[in-house]
Amino acid sequence: MRRTVAAYVLLASLLGIGTAGAAECPADALGVSRTLVVDPTEHVRLGSFQYNESLPLKDHEVVLTFDDGPLPPYTNRILDTLASECVKATFFMVGRMVQGYPAVVRRVYNEGHTVANHSQTHPFTFHKMSVEHAAQEIEGGFASLNAALGDPKAVAPFFRIPGLLRQDSVEHYLAAHNYMTWSVDFVADDWTHIKSQEVARRAINRIEARGKGILLLHDIQPATALALPDILKELKSRGFKIVHVVPATADRPKTVAEPELWAIRRAPEPKFWPRVLPVGVESPEPVLAAPSPASFGIEFVGPAIKVAMAQTFDRKADAAPAWPNLTDYTVQSEAHVLPIAGARNFRYVRVFRPGEPEKPKVAAKKPPARTQRPRAPAYGGWPAPTRSSRAVGHQLTVARPPVNLAAPQMR
Ligand SMILES: [Zn+2]
Repeated sequence: MRRTVAAYVLLASLLGIGTAGAAECPADALGVSRTLVVDPTEHVRLGSFQYNESLPLKDHEVVLTFDDGPLPPYTNRILDTLASECVKATFFMVGRMVQGYPAVVRRVYNEGHTVANHSQTHPFTFHKMSVEHAAQEIEGGFASLNAALGDPKAVAPFFRIPGLLRQDSVEHYLAAHNYMTWSVDFVADDWTHIKSQEVARRAINRIEARGKGILLLHDIQPATALALPDILKELKSRGFKIVHVVPATADRPKTVAEPELWAIRRAPEPKFWPRVLPVGVESPEPVLAAPSPASFGIEFVGPAIKVAMAQTFDRKADAAPAWPNLTDYTVQSEAHVLPIAGARNFRYVRVFRPGEPEKPKVAAKKPPARTQRPRAPAYGGWPAPTRSSRAVGHQLTVARPPVNLAAPQMR
């Protein structure tokens, strides 16, 4: 591990990036096992959740990504945790958050993490907006990051579409501008206001089930900040390695990787996964079923997409059934399909339709609507945390900090 740390420090100094914390890195820290240099012009879209390619990771290699920040104190707590284990991650930041907390953006960069773009205002309409509008959001996000860091080269040409609400025109725009579109390999549902222990449990379960990949977390969520130490500790004890991803540049050549390492390989899933999705049975070779968007709660209905990636507001989180549901499925060895996780395993219990704000559950019990507060627009009142848990999307509401995170941690 010392060798890993030393190698990272050397690399970091060569790359001119921050090494804060690396010198004090404990010998048993999780660390970064290797830095993967990727060429966005060569592989334009990543993440098995939606695409046919993901990062060329080896078994037991994990890439950490954090979306929607920065937002102190949570982002700072996460940076502290990452530094304590000498781990590097990729932060997909929202331009308006960047404008609000440029110092945190600089801290992320100076500590050696990859800074990437998650749009300017995080609209949940990327699947249906005009490409001109999408371009504004994309370029606006990059402009905010460039302004905060003062150097366009400091910002990775990586983009994650808000809500993962893809459409062809937007993907084509991103590819044409040499921006690499990042989806995910697994999520931890940390935008659904579940407890930190549950965030950690789901993250570890899903990483373990798949064996390698890109984990999506949200650095604006208090539960995530609290869960991260447990996630890193558990990854370490289970022998997982953290890979740091950076973009190729003129003086930083891409990591050579076999093309088939980029291709999604569907590992055989545990038998108790409860849902079967058919794939091409006429294929001459047995084909492992790919998780489809439907498995994660996204359904394609004509041009519209229903997204269930909204918070559930389920206040009975404590009573959540164990994941995965231990339904026993018999799988023939010559089967052309294998069971994979169903949406209900991810607690996407309600379908969320972008652009149609959901009515509060309690509306019927309340007096007429004129006594209700007007609904805040996206990021309305931002960045102050809102008392209401009602939100248009999963990350637009920041829950009140728990007691042990309430102390000011601004840097
Ligand atoms: Zn987001």
